[in-house]
Amino acid sequence: MARSSSVIVVGGGIVGLAVAARLAQPRPGAGSGCEVIVLEKEPTWAAHQTGRNSGVIHSGLYYRPGSRKASMCQAASASMLAFAREHGVPAQRCGKLVVAVTQPEVERLRALQQRAEANQVPVRWLEPSEIKEFEPKVAAIAALRVESTGITDYRAICTALAEQLADHGADLRLSTRVTAIRADGQGVTAETTGPAVRADALVNCAGLHSDRVAASGGQRPGVRIIPFRGEYYELRPERRDLVRGLIYPVPDPRLPFLGVHLTRMVDGSVHAGPNAVLALRREGYRWLDLSVRDTCQTLAYPGFWRLAKTYLATGVSEVARSLSKQRFAAALARLVPGITADDLVPCAAGVRAQALTPAGALVDDFLIQTGPRQVHVLNAPSPAATSALEIAAEVAGRVTAGLRATNG
Ligand SMILES: Cc1cc2nc3c(=O)[nH]c(=O)nc-3n(C[C@H](O)[C@H](O)[C@H](O)COP(=O)(O)OP(=O)(O)OC[C@H]3O[C@@H](n4cnc5c(N)ncnc54)[C@H](O)[C@@H]3O)c2cc1C
Repeated sequence: MARSSSVIVVGGGIVGLAVAARLAQPRPGAGSGCEVIVLEKEPTWAAHQTGRNSGVIHSGLYYRPGSRKASMCQAASASMLAFAREHGVPAQRCGKLVVAVTQPEVERLRALQQRAEANQVPVRWLEPSEIKEFEPKVAAIAALRVESTGITDYRAICTALAEQLADHGADLRLSTRVTAIRADGQGVTAETTGPAVRADALVNCAGLHSDRVAASGGQRPGVRIIPFRGEYYELRPERRDLVRGLIYPVPDPRLPFLGVHLTRMVDGSVHAGPNAVLALRREGYRWLDLSVRDTCQTLAYPGFWRLAKTYLATGVSEVARSLSKQRFAAALARLVPGITADDLVPCAAGVRAQALTPAGALVDDFLIQTGPRQVHVLNAPSPAATSALEIAAEVAGRVTAGLRATNG
């Protein structure tokens, strides 16, 4: 693609910055990269999902074989670690345990082992005595050891991506919200809270607002973003020795989230969570954060009521756990019996952007939609931080193909 191609990227989370970096990168045999303009509404990069997650570099064992999540994450667990190391961002391949504490969980752990094999993620089955070698405080009847799981600091990854973009001459604009998009035969214009911006194409990586940004560009996203808050506690520093690495429960295959787990972060702290409760605002990090517009849009969406019917019991129990530290501690004590409510101090929550169909189905895979001069990333839940470089490659490919087709 010639240097004259220009692309607007909406959103300065890890997906937007990775897409922008991929587009701006000079490519061997194809000359210099695109002119890239990144528009981020917050005054800092990674202010939402990316800067408020568990920091795990996932290995790819959970996902439906053949899905984008499965294929991208398998490559991503290596590429994200390599990117972190190359740019001096803290990262470790620390491995994790998925632990079963009841007989039905052992059956599900067997199914997970088969899925890991289908996804070519090496895992090792552990008996109780072997579990103690990795996590002495865990009491479980079986576990899977996943060596390829790692941890990093995704905010620092975003800083490195922004530096790379600056080196390639990208136009990086913080505190700039995109309010509308207009595409025509010659290009695309983003109206913003600052001056309007014109380019050949636009990529929407607006996370919790991606459906609205797509709709403002005349697209029919076909899904609505439902915000699910994930709340965390942290283990008191003097109790961190209860956990060496990452300890996960066996996920319930009927549910979209992995269940509260214990994660040793790159700074040595141990985070516990996240749970999953409906947020009353798209960026609602506390129960008191309420947006009438956001809540009404959720409640007016037919898919929400279909979802609520399916997951009513789970939703009620998640709310009860959100309101009771004792219940939160009890969920963690299933994994590490020594943990009590006194060991936990609250820490910052995150909100997941989860796409929901009108039929009430949570979109499981990454969802990317292409329109005239536009590419919209409409569902990028976990493991999208891990997979950001692979998502970027796919999105950049679509932008390039779209521009080639438009320019004849
Ligand atoms: C609690 C939690 C734990 C998680 N744990 C993990 C994990 O351990 N590992 C993993 O791989 N993934 C994890 N994830 C998922 C991961 O964080 C996300 O998949 C990833 O961060 C998505 O990145 P993004 O760039 O799409 O979204 P975001 O990081 O939310 O970025 C979107 C950006 O768009 C900006 N924006 C929105 N609207 C506009 C507008 N109109 N104009 C300009 N800018 C706009 C926002 O301000 C925001 O900065 C977790 C997520 C959560 C919430």
